Parts: sequence; structure tokens; C-alpha cells
Amino acid sequence: MRLLFDPPPQLKEELADATYIVPFDLDPDGNPAEGILAVQQGTVKTYVNHKLIHSVPIDKLADVKIHLGIGCAELASVGDDDKEPYLLARFTQTHTERMAELGRAIRIYNNTGVYIESDDQNERICFTCGHRIIRGTSICPYCTKKTSVISRFAQIARPYIGRFVLVTSLLLLASMAGILIPVFNKSLVDNHLVPQKGPVGTALMWVALILLCHLVATFVSMYANRKSVWVGNALSNDLRTLAYSRVQALSVNSMSKRTPGDLMNRITSDTSVIQGFISHVGQTVLLQIVSIVVVTTIMLFTNWKLTLWAYLPVPLTVVVIRWFWRTIHLKFSRQWRWGSRANSILYDIIRGIRVVKSFGNEKIEIEKFQGVSKKLADVSEENEKLWATLSPLLAFVIGCGEFLVLYFGGQDVLHLYDVGRGGMTVGELIQFMSFLGYIYGPLHTLSRFPQQLANFFTSSAKLFEILDEEQDVPDKDVVEDVEIQGRITFEDVHFGYNSYEPVIKGISFEIQPGEMVGIVGPSGVGKSTLINLIMRFYDVTSGQLLIDGHDIRNISQRSLRENIGVVFQETFLFAGTIYDNIAYAKPGAEPEEIFAATKIANAHEFIIKLPDGYNTRIGENGFTMSGGERQRLAIARAVLRNPSILILDEATASLDTETEHLIQEALERLIKGRTTFAIAHRLSTLRHADRLICIDKGKIAEMGSHDELMEKQGVYYRLVMAQRQTSKMADADIEAIVAGK
Ligand code: ADP
Repeated sequence: MRLLFDPPPQLKEELADATYIVPFDLDPDGNPAEGILAVQQGTVKTYVNHKLIHSVPIDKLADVKIHLGIGCAELASVGDDDKEPYLLARFTQTHTERMAELGRAIRIYNNTGVYIESDDQNERICFTCGHRIIRGTSICPYCTKKTSVISRFAQIARPYIGRFVLVTSLLLLASMAGILIPVFNKSLVDNHLVPQKGPVGTALMWVALILLCHLVATFVSMYANRKSVWVGNALSNDLRTLAYSRVQALSVNSMSKRTPGDLMNRITSDTSVIQGFISHVGQTVLLQIVSIVVVTTIMLFTNWKLTLWAYLPVPLTVVVIRWFWRTIHLKFSRQWRWGSRANSILYDIIRGIRVVKSFGNEKIEIEKFQGVSKKLADVSEENEKLWATLSPLLAFVIGCGEFLVLYFGGQDVLHLYDVGRGGMTVGELIQFMSFLGYIYGPLHTLSRFPQQLANFFTSSAKLFEILDEEQDVPDKDVVEDVEIQGRITFEDVHFGYNSYEPVIKGISFEIQPGEMVGIVGPSGVGKSTLINLIMRFYDVTSGQLLIDGHDIRNISQRSLRENIGVVFQETFLFAGTIYDNIAYAKPGAEPEEIFAATKIANAHEFIIKLPDGYNTRIGENGFTMSGGERQRLAIARAVLRNPSILILDEATASLDTETEHLIQEALERLIKGRTTFAIAHRLSTLRHADRLICIDKGKIAEMGSHDELMEKQGVYYRLVMAQRQTSKMADADIEAIVAGK
């Protein structure tokens, strides 16, 4: 969130080097005022109407928090023994969120000595125009650069431009043929059906021409529509693939900042909106505009007065439709929000159904869902009622237009027949009536066009945000594809997921090829973070991480990941057969290699006992595997991959003794000859590691073999003792159960 705004001109010089400048709007008595809260050189300063009213050193402020009042709120520090309470600013609700962020920044500074960065992420309001920013993005739908969006689409759509022009020209031809039908009809009626009877030959010619126009309009548009479907789908396929491949390339860091739903929306919904706009809306609007111009010109030449009558209901219709869309747009976004809330409740509950059932909370969950579902139904009902009102209303307005044309046109026709000149022929009136459809029909589409255009630009901006996202762990221009032996060196590595929250604080060690190292320590100290660094999901903040003496940033990510195998506590299996799931580690592996891998992983036995053996389907409607079985498949995958570095993250946690034994045996075979980096919750499983590195508070607390560390009686010793105590208690419980107490 932005915490550094431009100071008012009166304070420009005084606050030139401020770290944060946040405006607010009330004085301490609650009267409207122009306030500024600034953090400058370790001091928090409050200005009201450009005058400094308080100044306090930042470290004197304890636990700065927002206190909500009625109609206003204040940012203040809570008093404690040696730090005075302090009112920093009073403001209306609009400033609450930003002030809360400033309070957080002050707290973080006092705890860590680091100022968090002021940026425009997670902003709700656009600074340029004041409109709401699209949730989860930094995009303002009103400020997206339209020209750059169009030029980028021109690039993406380049392979299809030839076909696109062809389709549009054909559709234009078809609609011109359609427009000619009333023109020929007029000649037919005027020359052959009303009193002046012309020769039969010409009548037949008009009939043939009308038929020809019908045929052209029908078949050309049939062909063009089929082509258009092809272009649209090819384009949307390109867009989806582009977005999907970009999402695959996103770093773990970028992925963890977004929800799966958001990414899925961008790949599916946003690309459909774009495709729909390019291949249907844009084309239809173009055709309709051309048709309106042509038809209106013919009408004006035929009878300009009647044309004005025909256009009389148009402004009213446009006003009605625009009002309708403005209203429905707001209502639709409400419907969409309730719909998405209902979906996320469903998603959560279906995923966590075991927890719901185990707490017996089904009724509460049903009530919660019922509440949201009822809201959704109410909002949908309102919207549909509005729809249901609009169509007859529009039909009425258009009916009025037709009536006007028929009435005044009819009078003209009668005048012509009465007086013999100065009026309109029957054929012309029929032609007029047919053309009305060309004017009134597109009103609906055209008045929706601004909304659709806005949606198109919003979806495009969301898509381009993903396509343009900078890689935060990029491969350098020149990277090495190295054959990795497995020496891992940490040299004074520092790292934090956030700049103000270091997790790894200066770690140095070296693991030799083939060595098995266990990483131990209390939870939350940064063990998994070390794995994230070795996998290069994140880059170190300072220091160096070397693999075989090469800085990890100089090795191509492809060759790095090819040489690392992982077995996590949770094994993710894709829907598909067991065979495919194992082969995922090495696409194109020979069946013999797969069987050999499953044998090493102690998985072959249980797989062949399944009715479909290796062809058993996993996942939806398929076979559900136990934790131990999944883990053995993960080991088989790792064996098949044959990596020089192996990472085991809590690989044997939460398993029964027998399964654990099978897995332990498989792991022992797997780790032979590979550099192994293992984290285990149960310390006994790491007893045979060549070396144990004990991490505490982001630093290495101690390092050595199990025996050495036990002798030292330090952090590791205490962890082991604590675990023994827990397992003794568990054993005592078991004994008590066995003894029937
Ligand atoms: P351990 O594996 O030792 O239990 P972790 O390495 O998972 O600990 O986490 C170390 C610290 O980093 C924890 O305080 C955790 O909250 C934090 N952390 C872990 N992953 C992230 C992340 N993606 N973003 C921000 N903080 C994280």
C-alpha cells in the first residue's frame, strides 16, 4: 500500500526526505482539517493545517493501533510502563485502511529496524482517477492504456488478420445483400403489384434478384460465420495457451501471492471475454454501423421527413437502454460477488468436509450457505425482473416508431394516390418498414458496446499483467547447463520472504557429494526455507549459495531442477493411472525402468495387488491411496529421476511403524550415492545421517553427528529429550489402554 504521498507545497521542503507521508482529514477535536502524518529521520510528526502539532521519536511509540470511534477513527500508541500513550492522528473512515498500514509499518520498524517499502500493491483506489482498482491486481479499468492494448492485440492476432478481414468483408457483403432485398421488393411492388402493371418479364427479374440476394445473404453469412468460429477459437486457444504457459513460468513467490481461482479466471474467463469481443462484438458492431449508415442514406433519399419520424424514438430508446445497463451493471456485480462468495464457501467446505463432520458442524455450515445462497437468489431475482421489464418496454418504444412510420408514411401514400404526385409509393413504405429493423435492432447491441469495450480492456489488462510479470528468479542471459555432482555450499546466506522479516540470518555450511545431512530444529525456524533456496524457488537476499562451486544463479533452472529430486510429506498425484503418475518424473521412460524404480521404492508389491495393477486410475472416481502408498510412489518418482541431489521433507512423518519401515528401507536405497538433504519431524529417522545441522532462529545452533550433538547437550539434545518424553507418555497411554485402565 502507498505510504509516501507528495507533501502539500507548504511542507515540500520540510518533508523532502520523509520516509512516509500520509494525509488525513480531521484535527484532534474532530473538526475537518488538512492533516499530514509523516515519518522522518526516526521521528513521527503530525501536521494539522500545515502546522506541526506533535513530534515524537518513533521508538517511543508502543503498539501503534487504530481505535475505531463513531464516525471517526484514530491512530494512537497504547501506553505502557515506559512509553507514553500518544494520539497521532484523527480521521474519517476513508483513511482507516491506510493509517492501519502506517501503524503496521511503525510497529515493524520498532521490532526490526527496517522500514517496509511503500508501493502501489494491494491498493483499492486508483491514484489517477479515484476509481476502484480491480481486486487482486494493480489495474485501474479506467486508466489502462487503450492504444497499447490494441497494438498488442494486433501483434497476437497477426496470423489471423488475413482471415479476419476476409470474414468481415464477406459478412459485409451478406448484409449489403440483405439491404438490397427491401430495395428490390420496393421495385417489385411499385412496378407490378400496385395498379401500374409492368411486363411479366421484369417482374420475374425482380423476383429472381430478390431470391439471389436471399441466397447470397444466407450462404455467404453461413460460410463467413463458420470461418469466424474458426478464427475465434484459434485466437482464444492461442490466448489461453499463452496465459497458461506464462502462469507455468511464474515464480513460486508470485504464485503464492495469488489465489488459484484468480489465475484460473485469467486463463479461462478473461481470455473468453477477449475472444468474444474480438471475434463477435467488434465485428457485429462494425457491420451494424455500416448497415445503419447505408440504410439511413437510402431512407433519407427516399423520404427525409419520414426518416426523421423513424428516428424519433431512437434517443429515448438509447436513454432507456443506457439507464438499464448502468443499473444492471451494478446489480450484476453484486450478483457476481454473491455468486463468488457462494462458490468459495462451497469450495472450502467440500475440501474441508472431514473437519466439518468431525466437529459436527454440518448444520452451521448449511445455515451459512443458505444465507449466502438466499442473498444470491434475491439479487438474481431482482436482475431477472429488470430484464423482464426491459424487453417489453423496448418493444413498446420500437412499436411506437413503427406506428409513426406507418401512420405518416400511410398518409403520404394516400396523398400520392389521391393527388397523383408529391407522396410516397406503397413499395417505398414497405421498404421503409423493412429498414426499421436495421435501425432499431442494433440499438441494443450498440448501447451495450461501451460496457463491453470496458470489459474487454479490463480483461486485457488482467491478462497482460500476467504476461508482463517480471520474473523474480530469472535465468541470466548466459547460464550454464552443468552436470551436477552434488556439493552444496551456503556462504553467509541471508534471506527473508519480506524485506523486514529475515528468516535465514547468516548461514554457512558445505555438504559434500553423496553426504546425507539432516536438518533439525523447532518448527518455524527456516528449515523448509533452506529447501526453497536450494530448489531456487527464491533467491538469497545476500551471501551465496553454490552448487558444485557454481553460484546457483548462474546455473540454468532447467538443469538445476533436473538434478534435484524431492519427496515431500504430501505427495501430489495427478488424475490418471499409477503408471502415468510415476512416469511423470521421466517422460518416455521404458516400462522396465518404471518397474525397477517401484521395486526399489517398495511400491511394486502393493501396485500389482490392485485389480488393475499399474493401470489403476487415481483420483476422481478412482483409487484413493493411503499416505504411505503415495509416499512410495513419490520415492519411485525420485528413483526414476535419478537426481544427484535429493531432498526429503518430513518424508516419514505421520506413518504407522510398518509403513515407516518399508519407506525407510526404500529411502535408504534411494539415498545411496546422492547428496541428501533431509528434514524430519521424528528425529529418530535422522539418527543415521552423516551430519545433523541444527537450526534455531534462522541461524545454525550446532552441527555434528547424532552422538556428538547428544553429548553436547544443546538444542538438539533438548529436542530429542522433549520427543522422548512425548513418546514415553504415548507409550504409557498405550500400556494403560492394554491394561484396560
Ligand atoms: P520450518 O520449515 O522450520 O518449520 P519454514 O522455513 O517453513 O519453517 O518457515 C520459516 C518462517 O518463514 C516462518 O515464520 C514462516 O511463517 C515464514 N514463511 C514460510 N513461507 C513463507 C512465505 N511463502 N511467505 C512469507 N513467510 C513465509
